[in-house]
Amino acid sequence: MHQRSAHRSLLVVGSVAFDDIDGPFGLHKDLLGGSASFISRAAAYFTKNVSVVAVIGEDFPAKYLEEMSAQGIDVSGIERAKGDTFHWVGKYADDLATRETIDTRLGVFADFQPKLHDSHKDAQLVLLGNIDPALQLDVLKQVRAPALVATDTMNLWINIKRADLEKVLAKTHTLMLNDEEARLLAGEHNLRKAAAHILKLGPSSVIIKRGDAGALLFHGGGVFAAPAMPLADVQDPTGAGDSFAGGLMGYLAYAGDLSPTTIRTAMIMGSVMGSFAVEKFTVDGIRGLTTARIQQRFDELSELAHFERVRL
Ligand code: AMP
Repeated sequence: MHQRSAHRSLLVVGSVAFDDIDGPFGLHKDLLGGSASFISRAAAYFTKNVSVVAVIGEDFPAKYLEEMSAQGIDVSGIERAKGDTFHWVGKYADDLATRETIDTRLGVFADFQPKLHDSHKDAQLVLLGNIDPALQLDVLKQVRAPALVATDTMNLWINIKRADLEKVLAKTHTLMLNDEEARLLAGEHNLRKAAAHILKLGPSSVIIKRGDAGALLFHGGGVFAAPAMPLADVQDPTGAGDSFAGGLMGYLAYAGDLSPTTIRTAMIMGSVMGSFAVEKFTVDGIRGLTTARIQQRFDELSELAHFERVRL
């Protein structure tokens, strides 16, 4: 993407992790994962103004941080603490559509207290990746006046930390979550009704991610649907939602405005980055992409969803 001076700053808070992924393609251990890993790498294709706040353990290879720096990501907010890096173990069903968490080893996350550098406190866009909502709240208390706070969460936090999550939602502009999580949070199966319920908790918009069925944006003005790219080869859906969020927020930082048209385009950029993520394990699907490849897939999605209005 072109460099534009109007790029807004994007602060990403989330997990940097090792993942063990089991499923139809066998068990893959010790893969680089974590919400902040996918989000920041996806966003960095659109703007060089991405900073990450996270924690890693003594076992975390420096090469991954160097790779992020080479992409232009500010990693000065990634704290190295005594102990092991967060480790998540997940298992996918044969259809790759459903997954269960087998194990969550918090490691250094257990004692993590995010402390923002002064330069990070003025971030214009803040993306609270999926971590304990108590930590998301800590970050919100430190940022000064962000134009947009977007929050991701998961079923674990909805189940065990609902009170903290509700405090985060009260300060969130855009909530991103998947369909199952939206139903759980709202206590409502119908997604339109679930979205209406969630909008009463604080956010002015909610994005419901539906895997290979695309994503829906609900806001006061109505609903917008972003399709998912029908792919011939899907290896690992881990990080799809985070790469979607990274593409979306990265594009908003790049565009420099929050108009309804820009937000729609950002939803499609999210879908583009999510589609690359699922083609390979770990961050491999979003490693080494070019602007030309991102543009090509954006154009393919535009073609896929394009239709003319007719009058009957
Ligand atoms: P996604 O597939 O986009 O929902 O995100 C998957 C990523 O979330 C994996 O790389 C995990 O390391 C990370 N993750 C899973 N559970 C948690 C958790 N409880 N807290 C923080 N990150 C998590």
